[in-house]
Amino acid sequence: MPVADQKKTEELARYYRNAWLKGPGTSLKRQYGTLTNYSQIAEHTRIKNEQEPLTAEQVDAYDLDLFTGTFKTGQTACYRCPVACSQKWEIKDGPYRGDKGDKLEYGHLLNLGPNLGIFEFPAMLHLADVCNRLGMDCIQFGYNMAAAMECFQRGILGSEATGGSDLKWGMPG
Ligand code: SF4
Repeated sequence: MPVADQKKTEELARYYRNAWLKGPGTSLKRQYGTLTNYSQIAEHTRIKNEQEPLTAEQVDAYDLDLFTGTFKTGQTACYRCPVACSQKWEIKDGPYRGDKGDKLEYGHLLNLGPNLGIFEFPAMLHLADVCNRLGMDCIQFGYNMAAAMECFQRGILGSEATGGSDLKWGMPG
């Protein structure tokens, strides 16, 4: 694309690329991606369709070192981004063995985990995998499902409306 001052534009691009490459938060973002937001803004985070505050135990359930040590398989970047914060993951054991993805963001964790009353990585990651395979947006699915679950909790939706499914908080048994 033509610009008014090619030289200045390239200088600016170099400046910002270097700032991102060497910035103090970059290594943290590479290691954990946007998942770092989960613990950083825990006191403003609410669960079960945002009805209740998050407890310390629920924060610990999504310990980021547990994610990187057990599920993370690498990282990727959006086109030409020097940060490369996208977290690749795979579940290697248990009932969801083989589920995997190329991206996991804070919004996925929050809306497929605590907002649905789910406090464990494998179940939350499994839902992310299901959404991705179905071509559904993980965050929007989580919000919509949380709203439906709250309606079920309050008796606004009954099993006749859900086709017999029990929309209790947490992973279906
Ligand atoms: S552009 Fe993509 S890889 Fe780069 S910081 Fe943003 S989400 Fe991460």
